[in-house]
Amino acid sequence: MGHGNRMSTGLPESLSVRLKHTYGDFFPLIERGFRAERPVTLRVNTCKTTAEAVRQELAVHGIRTVSAEWYEEALIADGVREQALEETPLYARGEIYLQSLSSMLPPILLRPQPGENILDMTAAPGGKTTELYALSGGKALITACERDHIRCERLKFNLERQGATRVNVLKQDALSLDDALKFDKILLDAPCTGTGTVSMAKGIRYSEDYLARCMRLQAKLFDKALKLLKKGGVLLYSTCSVLNEENGQIIARAQRTGAEMIPVDLPAEIPRLPSPEGTACICPDALYEGFFLSMFTIS
Ligand code: SAM
Repeated sequence: MGHGNRMSTGLPESLSVRLKHTYGDFFPLIERGFRAERPVTLRVNTCKTTAEAVRQELAVHGIRTVSAEWYEEALIADGVREQALEETPLYARGEIYLQSLSSMLPPILLRPQPGENILDMTAAPGGKTTELYALSGGKALITACERDHIRCERLKFNLERQGATRVNVLKQDALSLDDALKFDKILLDAPCTGTGTVSMAKGIRYSEDYLARCMRLQAKLFDKALKLLKKGGVLLYSTCSVLNEENGQIIARAQRTGAEMIPVDLPAEIPRLPSPEGTACICPDALYEGFFLSMFTIS
């Protein structure tokens, strides 16, 4: 989804007004998170290797890493740029995937199991698809849907490189998926304004018009996800936005449709912002990007 506004280096007035209105005293923390320079983080591809083997090989290349406390395969590489990791043979062999810590959480919470029919509804470039695949030991039946042609090509490339060979890729608008298809689990990592990933150093893209377009698309995709979910199945809805306008409307929608919320349980060390009960909104800081997580089932 393109958004016309040019990159700016300050926080747009309308965005700070919205964030201050929702978060009050937490606003300075969010602003500090927007100014933070986070270390490069990566996920070990357990289809191909182990965290220990990756850490040892990276050390040979002079790259020191530590594991996140809540997930051994989530590595934090302080003091290097992405390029240094991209130049390693490990990267070329698909044994690591550069990914923010926050964005590793949806597949972990969804707990993909062998034999489950799982839809990754808006999948490119595939960080979470390949993670779902690895977490299920390559044994979940994963369908990855992406409507953008170029992004879909990137998705296929990443699946291939990560050895996620048995993923069914659909290059189509998820809104046009046949409702007769039913899935045990759905990941809807929705297109959003990206306000959780704002970086003052890199410039900010935000406009009120873009927010409105994202909200309309999110609502449609969420309704569609509920139609594609088996009774008793689990839908994980996430965005990399901290705007309550976007995320809160989905919770209100879920309540109207009778979808039942499954509380999101995160490790205590992950910084949180206030969010609707049962959901989690990660506060951007020096390690984490801002991120929203919610889970639902239907009966
Ligand atoms: N989950 C991905 C990952 O971890 O790599 C990131 C997904 S990104 C937030 C959202 C994606 O949704 C974009 O690639 C966008 O092109 C795609 N998208 C937007 N609208 C869509 C639709 N109606 N159907 C399918 N894909 C869509």
